[in-house]
Amino acid sequence: MSLIVQKFGGTSVANPERIQNVAKRVSRNFEEGHDMVVILSAMAGVTDSLIGLASEMSESPDRRELDVLLATGEQTTAALLAMTLKSMNYPAMSLLGFQAEVVTDCSYCNARIVDIGATRIKELLDKRNIVVVAGFQGIDQGGNITTLGRGGSDTSAVAIAAALKADKCEIFTDVDGIYTADPNVCANARKLDSISCEEMLEMASVGAKVLHIRSVEFALKHNVPLYVRSSFNEKEGTMVMNGDHDMESPVVSGITYNKNEARITMKRVPDQPGIAANIFTSIAEAGINVDMIIQNTRAGGETDLTFTVPKADFKRALDLGKQVAEKIGAEKVLGDENIAKVSVTGIGMKSHSGVAAKMFSAMAAENINIIMISTSEIRISCVVEEKKAELAVRTLHTAFGLDKVEN
Ligand code: ADP
Ligand code: ASP
Ligand code: MG
Repeated sequence: MSLIVQKFGGTSVANPERIQNVAKRVSRNFEEGHDMVVILSAMAGVTDSLIGLASEMSESPDRRELDVLLATGEQTTAALLAMTLKSMNYPAMSLLGFQAEVVTDCSYCNARIVDIGATRIKELLDKRNIVVVAGFQGIDQGGNITTLGRGGSDTSAVAIAAALKADKCEIFTDVDGIYTADPNVCANARKLDSISCEEMLEMASVGAKVLHIRSVEFALKHNVPLYVRSSFNEKEGTMVMNGDHDMESPVVSGITYNKNEARITMKRVPDQPGIAANIFTSIAEAGINVDMIIQNTRAGGETDLTFTVPKADFKRALDLGKQVAEKIGAEKVLGDENIAKVSVTGIGMKSHSGVAAKMFSAMAAENINIIMISTSEIRISCVVEEKKAELAVRTLHTAFGLDKVEN
């Protein structure tokens, strides 16, 4: 008998029939003798509609109250699953984040888990209950409800699995596992049997939303056996592996894209010490994360500075950029929301050269213009026009030999 944590995402609990299917799967595992803890997301689309409702009340809704509102999505599904299990005569109990002692810092809408008490979960498990926990939410030390950022219920699941020292954590979603690229964009994407935490972290950080990045960080830090599987079939899924990688790792194992960033360019910035510090300090003080930065030197002691920020922060960052530009005597500030970042990731890149050249050539052959470039040890990212993102993913997938072989 083992302790299993299972998380079901939005599409897996999108309607009463799917919640009943989740109840069947969970009860089957329970009948096999396992201790079961189930973490749920809100029904697909519910978090978006709650955000929409909030924006009808205020242009920038108070973030504390927004979290109180958003947490209701997961409260609904947790209650619905627990009552379904009870109606099937299984002992079940739903818990909200605070009841499961999911303690976070106080960054509303993007809180980080700092501790999980889980005494109540353990007591319920000892009494042989199926414990259903509302994902995505926690409580800060001041007793306020917080949420973990979009996609955060994966992190609730892995963190709870870590706190309980669960034998495994299974993330059930609407695809069969982790693929070489988003299978909804690239029909030739291949399902991976396993992926290293390191590669998954890199893919999640550049937009593969199949796992919330902090869930992979938890799995890595606490050695949680983590699997991604489909809630619509019994296939094995993908294991996210922690540990040594063999030297034969593919040079490129995945292609990812992300449309969540926007670009800001400051034209004719004086080329002097302290100018970049001035610009990026004011952006950082506003709590805005800058991702890529490039600086082009022009003749005449001036530079053009381009950087990317999350789309959600674009307007604020543009306003701040304009204020700073005036102060430092830059000519003008331009913004572009219609960009996408396309990335190739792979541990094998550490010991191979020529990946960047191959990436750029493949994109050139499809007439895809590269606007910005950034690299890490195991990733290369390019900013391209938003409308070219999907074409770029498919092109690179083929260029790096990742397409599945039809048999
Ligand atoms: P859930 O609601 O279950 O949490 P998400 O929508 O957050 O589901 O994540 C699953 C989605 O992630 C898939 O439907 C797929 O479109 C997308 N995705 C992006 N990159 C990948 C990838 N490399 N492998 C699998 N899915 C991916
Ligand atoms: N319901 C939340 C969201 O839509 C959390 C999650 O699904 O993981 O972002
Ligand atoms: Mg998700």
